[in-house]
Amino acid sequence: MKRYDLIVVGAGPGGSTAALTAAEAGLKTLLLERSAYPGEKNASGFALSSKAWRDFSFLQEMELPSMRYCRQCVAHFLSPPPEMEERFVVASGPSRRMSYPEARDFFTVGMLRREFDPFLVELAEKAGAELRLNSLVTGLVFEAGRVAGVRLEGGEEYRAPVTIGADGVLSLVARQAGLRDKWKPHEVTSVCIVDFTAPRERMDDVIHEAGFQAYFGPGMGGNFLIAYADGVHLGGPGVTNSLIARAVRKGIKPAKELLETLSAPPVQRLLRALEAEPREWQAHCLTWMDRMPENVCCGGLMLVGDAAGLPEPLYAEGVWQAMYSGRLAAEVAKEALEEGDFSPGFMRSYRERLEESPVGEEFVAGAQLRQLFEMLGDPRVCAELEEMAVDLAVHLLMTGQEPKAEAMGRIFSILAENVPALMSLARVYLPLLLQVSEEKMRFYASLLRGIRNIVENFLSGELGF
Ligand SMILES: Cc1cc2nc3c(=O)[nH]c(=O)nc-3n(C[C@H](O)[C@H](O)[C@H](O)COP(=O)(O)OP(=O)(O)OC[C@H]3O[C@@H](n4cnc5c(N)ncnc54)[C@H](O)[C@@H]3O)c2cc1C
Repeated sequence: MKRYDLIVVGAGPGGSTAALTAAEAGLKTLLLERSAYPGEKNASGFALSSKAWRDFSFLQEMELPSMRYCRQCVAHFLSPPPEMEERFVVASGPSRRMSYPEARDFFTVGMLRREFDPFLVELAEKAGAELRLNSLVTGLVFEAGRVAGVRLEGGEEYRAPVTIGADGVLSLVARQAGLRDKWKPHEVTSVCIVDFTAPRERMDDVIHEAGFQAYFGPGMGGNFLIAYADGVHLGGPGVTNSLIARAVRKGIKPAKELLETLSAPPVQRLLRALEAEPREWQAHCLTWMDRMPENVCCGGLMLVGDAAGLPEPLYAEGVWQAMYSGRLAAEVAKEALEEGDFSPGFMRSYRERLEESPVGEEFVAGAQLRQLFEMLGDPRVCAELEEMAVDLAVHLLMTGQEPKAEAMGRIFSILAENVPALMSLARVYLPLLLQVSEEKMRFYASLLRGIRNIVENFLSGELGF
């Protein structure tokens, strides 16, 4: 039986980053992966947020054939089925107000997991971690009430004072360690995606840098498109919309929702323009928690990434979270080895650091903000808001059909008519704003009162411009 300082189960982004950090810190590290190659069993493509470039300097060196920078996000609002034609489109680029340079440059980079996962594993191996592929962990070994190693299919055992469970959403490690049984229905979601290949030139011409797009419509919402260099995938029904959560709770079928979006005329036109060919169809389970999970460690063991339930509550983004938690767990493992303390109490510092870290911060306000996307999928609210957006755009900006004064004069009645829909928005946003920045809100409220006084004085003729 071979002994290591650290065993990492699963060579996804979480496990590889943990193994890389541990090996760089001089720990004798074993990385076990059930697949024939890293990334084999994961979702085809994904979008990696600019946060990852801020936090992991080794990504500056990364150049993968499938990479496509996303500098534009697009939200398409469709009319109700069966037409599902485009009524309103919002596109945005990165904001100059973002706090770090990468976020001011791009939102995400789309790429394929079968390139990204091996890239990370290779770094871990170069740093000295030992990789074993085709190695399915089927059990944990316990000693003195704590985890002391793992057992592989076939019975082979490996021992280490610390194990990191990075074995994804259905984590056998978590269940065997008694940290949880199954996920509860409201803690997980199912994501269906159809992956298409498309010639690189068509992608450059048609998608260019609009690498993240979402389709909303009354009764269907937030189905997303992620682009990489030579293809796209469409997924749904809406990680950006908790219809998936509702699907679990209310029996809506995710695959049906996705097929509806795929058959929407604007999506069909896009796929034709891309000369896209379907490559793969997948359905995955993904954790989607409202709060940072509690049970992520015990004696001799820490869980990272999806195994710990760390995808954030708004979009269920999880790769950066897996990498960040992987690094944190490896740092705690090194300290545990230095102290010779593998007790539950020592491992608990991992949970505490995670909560204080940017991964923990992601859970603040995320679940509440998700209500906004829930609203966009609600047939009544979506129809009202969409109509208001169309009206405002037509009467404020595109006033060519009627005299400008007449068109612009309608703005107030459009706003007044839509007070109920605007109040639905305010019901989501106001408590959120209060929670995250009460002081600023009070300041701007006093500013608004000042503006109201100025407008009233202006209207009564006391003030002239
Ligand atoms: C369709 C879909 C689209 C997504 N899109 C995005 C996105 O655009 N951006 C984003 O940030 N996140 C996205 N996510 C979430 C993201 O994929 C996960 O959060 C991320 O992969 C978590 O990484 P991980 O290392 O924790 O686990 P995984 O990536 O799941 O890796 C776990 C690894 O462990 C291995 N393993 C499992 N069990 C065992 C075992 N018993 N023994 C040995 N090895 C084992 C698996 O083979 C796998 O390689 C998406 C998820 C889905 C399902």
